[in-house]
Amino acid sequence: MLVIHTIAELRAHLDEHRQNRRKISLVPTMGFLHQGHMALAQKAREESDVVVLSIFVNPIQFGVNEDLDVYPRDLPHDIALCKENGVDIIFAPSVAEIYPEPIMTSVEVQSLSNILIGRHRPNHFRGVTTIVAKLLNIVEPDKIIFGEKDYQQLIIVRRMIRDLSYKAEVVGVPIVREEDGLACSSRNARLTKEDRAAAVILSQSLKKAQKRILEGEKDVSTIRQLIEDNIKSEARAKIQSIDICHATKLDTLDRIDNQPIVILLAVAFGDVVLIDQQLVTPNEKAL
Ligand code: AMP
Repeated sequence: MLVIHTIAELRAHLDEHRQNRRKISLVPTMGFLHQGHMALAQKAREESDVVVLSIFVNPIQFGVNEDLDVYPRDLPHDIALCKENGVDIIFAPSVAEIYPEPIMTSVEVQSLSNILIGRHRPNHFRGVTTIVAKLLNIVEPDKIIFGEKDYQQLIIVRRMIRDLSYKAEVVGVPIVREEDGLACSSRNARLTKEDRAAAVILSQSLKKAQKRILEGEKDVSTIRQLIEDNIKSEARAKIQSIDICHATKLDTLDRIDNQPIVILLAVAFGDVVLIDQQLVTPNEKAL
C-alpha cells in the first residue's frame, strides 16, 4: 500500500493504472478511520481494481464555530487499518497541497444544500461538493463510494455528478453500527463516557419510529413526536433537528403514503453533534 501526499505523485501512479485498463475507486474520508469507512473500502475493493482512499479534513466545509481544530486525527492508525482492508493508495494531502491559495471557485448544488443539515451549517455542503469536485478531477475514478450515514451528502453528490457529467458512478454503502446500535463515527471518540452510553438513544428512537411506520402510522407529526419524546427521555441529548423526508427528493412530508422515506436526526451531546438516519419503505412488512 502506498501513502501519497501530493497530487502530482498520485496522478503519475493512477495514469499508469489507467494505461493498464484498471478500474479505479475513490473513497473520500476525513480520516480517524473506523469500521464504517472500512465497509466503504471493502465495497470499493469489490467494485474495482485499484482502491484509493483519501484522508483530508477539509477546512472549507467547517463553519467558524465548528470542530475543525479538534477534529480527531491519527494517520498511523489509519494506515494500519487501510493495509488490513485492501486499500491500495492512501492519498493524504496537506491543506497547502489542496488549497495553495484561497479558493475562489466553488461548486454548489442549489436547493438541496440549504435544507435539512444545511439550515444549521450554511456553507457546509458547498465545501463538501467543492472538495469532492476537486478529488474527482485529481483521481478521475470510475466509482466514488459514500456512506448512507451522511445521507444528505450522498444525495447532493449524486446530483452534482449528474449535473456536471462526471464519469464516476456513485456507490452508496449502508450505515455500519457499533454493537449497541450507535452509528460508527470519528466524532464518537470525542464523547464523554456518559454521553457515549446515552448516544444509543438515536438508533433506538429511529428503530421505534420505523416500527410504527411499518405498522401503518401515516401521520408525520405523530412520528416526529414519538422520536422527540424518545430522545428527550435522555437528558444528555439536545435535539438539533428531526426531519422526515422523501428518500430521494428530500422534500419534507406531512403524510407517509407509499413513498420511500428517510428519517434524519442531528442530536448534540455536549459539543459533539451526532447524526443518524433510517430509511423506511412503508410497504415493507411490519417488523
Ligand atoms: P467522514 O470521514 O466522516 O467524512 O466519512 C467519510 C465517508 O465515510 C462518508 O461517505 C461517510 O458517509 C462514510 N461513513 C462514515 N461513517 C459511516 C458509517 N458508520 N457507516 C457507513 N459509512 C460511514
